[in-house]
Amino acid sequence: MARAWQSEAADMVEEQIVGRDVRDARILEAFVSVPRHLFVPPEYAGTAYVDRPLPIGERQTISQPYMVAKMTELLLTEPGMKVLEIGTGSGYQSAVLASLGLRVWSVERLESLAMEAQKRLSDLNFDVKVIYGDGRGGFPEEAPYDRIIVTAASPRVEAAWDSQLALNGRLVAPLNVMTGNQRLLVRENLAQGFRNTWYDYCRFVPLLQGTE
Ligand code: SAH
Repeated sequence: MARAWQSEAADMVEEQIVGRDVRDARILEAFVSVPRHLFVPPEYAGTAYVDRPLPIGERQTISQPYMVAKMTELLLTEPGMKVLEIGTGSGYQSAVLASLGLRVWSVERLESLAMEAQKRLSDLNFDVKVIYGDGRGGFPEEAPYDRIIVTAASPRVEAAWDSQLALNGRLVAPLNVMTGNQRLLVRENLAQGFRNTWYDYCRFVPLLQGTE
């Protein structure tokens, strides 16, 4: 690479993340500490820190840095919390969460991506367990979770996610709202019931059924 990756990551944080509206110092630190270029295929390593999603094989993508930051901010985490991710992909979002001191379980429906992500995360010493499976059912073995983050676009909030979310827990997910449109949903599990709040429009690959 032409420059040290830390310098590219610092510019990414300034221009794409602080430059928009994510200001939480802990989140910004996480983004300079995770080597994003190791989460993309080698041929994209030189463009890993640019302002867009990138292909990671199997017709899937690693999300744009800003979207990872925005969802992490909306998740409102505290160190030590248990987090479930649906849609491991490259493992980058999981790594950002783990570097915030969270304990992460992440479900991926494509076996090759799940295996690659687990190896990458373990090699880099991130505290993340990757599960190969259909994340529409969550991962009941470790429930309840303080936080659930879905990183593929879903037509609905699955009943399994609601039932695996701790009291006062939060879920962040891109939901299909109208033909071709997706929007970030924050869903809180409050004593009086679930409360939904809608945020940015976004574009994610679809949440699909079953495993491959
Ligand atoms: N969070 C990832 C990007 C996610 S791309 C990252 O940081 O790189 C969306 C991922 O969700 C893809 O890898 C896709 O295979 C996966 N996916 C889609 N439907 C799924 C399902 N039902 N269960 C688990 N994973 C799913």
